[in-house]
Amino acid sequence: MPKKVIAAVHFMLIAAAAVYAQRGAPQAPKPDNAQSLAHIDAAKKIAGNDSFLANPYNFFCVAGNARAQNNNAPDLDPIKLFDNVYAVGNSETAVYALTSAEGIVLLDAGFENKAEALVLQLQKLGLDPAKVKFILLGHGHGDHFGGSKYFQDKYGTKVAATAADWDLINAPARGGGGGGAKPSKDVTLAEGQPFKFGDLTITPIEIPGHTPGSLAFIFPAKDKGMTRTAGLFGGTVLTTGILTTDALKQYTQSIAHYLEAAKKMNVEVELQNHPIFDGMPEKLAKLKGAKPADPNPFVIGNDRYLKMWNIVSECIQAEIARREASN
Ligand SMILES: [Zn+2]
Repeated sequence: MPKKVIAAVHFMLIAAAAVYAQRGAPQAPKPDNAQSLAHIDAAKKIAGNDSFLANPYNFFCVAGNARAQNNNAPDLDPIKLFDNVYAVGNSETAVYALTSAEGIVLLDAGFENKAEALVLQLQKLGLDPAKVKFILLGHGHGDHFGGSKYFQDKYGTKVAATAADWDLINAPARGGGGGGAKPSKDVTLAEGQPFKFGDLTITPIEIPGHTPGSLAFIFPAKDKGMTRTAGLFGGTVLTTGILTTDALKQYTQSIAHYLEAAKKMNVEVELQNHPIFDGMPEKLAKLKGAKPADPNPFVIGNDRYLKMWNIVSECIQAEIARREASN
């Protein structure tokens, strides 16, 4: 190999290693100890006898329940959740469409091979896919950005992610979440820089852990004439096995950081891009059966929203304690 090529390959390997530093060899499950049990107990106390909070507790704190999303799960029946918020995509990898006076913003774009299905879902809701002006990515894995290149090519949609996750998307060898056609880099998002589009403002909060550049999004959800604040935590660690202990620690710090913003901004609507631990099927069933005066089941209140993510954090801290047991 010519020297220049060797140097280039070497650089690419270093770049790839930096990107993958958060992922290690799968960790074998470790037994509980006093510290891990204390965290599980704390999570249980926060959950109390709240049937909604039982969802994250059971998923993350009860051994054997946490799992990755099922990529073969059925697609969502596309649905309007709020006056300006729609759920589309897959039942285990959801995409949200936010409408503004200027057009549509998608939060994530789902899988590459589901892009056309996504277009049909939008049309079924009366949303014109040609009006999708931006796609904001919760993080740079193929199950979230996969469909975005299709929109870029067909509708001129601009794709936005953090600098760190643009690097991840463009890393020479990618892993995790499946591959996908890579979108070209249009917009770089960063915390402290609200994304404004027409009358819509989306506040990005950086939550590294699942990926170096994962984001949570805070935005308004219009509910029968009232404006509520919604939060989508876009970088949930569903299974801890593939992450290093340092990445898990960073993740719990990210949850704490996010909760400061969620408290300050009074987030009371809970949405997930992998809605497999937040009772979304029950909420959808309730919404479909709701009478006009009934409360929207996606509005859970700020207190329960903060509790939910504190439960997730306690369960992750239990895993860290298991790994760090001295005996
Ligand atoms: Zn994912």
